[in-house]
Amino acid sequence: MYLLEMNHIKKSFDGQGVLKDISLAVAEGEIVSIIGPSGSGKSTLLRCATMLERMDSGELLYLGEKAAWNGPDGTAVYAGKEKQKEIQGNYGLVFQNFNLFPHYNVLKNIIDAPIHVQKRKSEEVIREAYDLLRKMGLEDKAEAYPCQLSGGQCQRVAIARAIVNEPEVLLLDEPLAALDLKMRKDMQMELKEMHQKLGITFVYVTHDQEEALTLSDTIVVMSEGRIQQIGTPTDIYNEPINSFVADFIGQV
Ligand code: ADP
Ligand code: MG
Repeated sequence: MYLLEMNHIKKSFDGQGVLKDISLAVAEGEIVSIIGPSGSGKSTLLRCATMLERMDSGELLYLGEKAAWNGPDGTAVYAGKEKQKEIQGNYGLVFQNFNLFPHYNVLKNIIDAPIHVQKRKSEEVIREAYDLLRKMGLEDKAEAYPCQLSGGQCQRVAIARAIVNEPEVLLLDEPLAALDLKMRKDMQMELKEMHQKLGITFVYVTHDQEEALTLSDTIVVMSEGRIQQIGTPTDIYNEPINSFVADFIGQV
């Protein structure tokens, strides 16, 4: 059974097709990278997959359970709000711009939602938060504010915040794009280690071909709202299915 399944997803903005019949299945425990040029629809796909954005039509399943499907008129119908929330509770999200609260310190950024939204016990959440901060080399930054941290440190806080809830799947949208090359390489290694340690599924959006080749079990190449190819890094690199994929990967 797949963890996440997306079937025939379509989405337009102002009459412009942004996702044109996307089908993709993510197996438990794998790192799937979605790569493609800017504007190819990667973020929209991630937002539709996590129900932050409504798709026009298509089917979404989480562990075989339907989160959305096509109604009689062919447009998407979503499961009730409670069910959506329950499914979304399995997701951890990390965005390029970190989205940390500037007026909260590091610790509060990590523990606020688990305590106030998910109503988890604060002692337990605080203990886990410190544990994560230690793992990420940020134990002395718990009281610091985001403006006092480097880009890489902010990104680690954003990742800690996403994984404190022990999500089944971590969805990352160009999480390293704002970092310089050296920091990116370090964070790539850290993410890979974290994936091995935590054993959770990663869906990783990037426009960086090399990053995708380094990190992934499966690569999904997108262009203009369509999937061009899905395969292992070796498949994609050695046997690109068309000239777009060849050119795009060939730039590495
Ligand atoms: P990527 O993440 O691959 O760079 P996006 O999914 O962000 O691509 O965007 C794909 C296309 O959809 C772009 O042309 C973008 O301008 C358009 N788009 C994305 N979000 C919106 C929106 N909320 N309203 C209108 N157009 C949008
Ligand atoms: Mg994007």
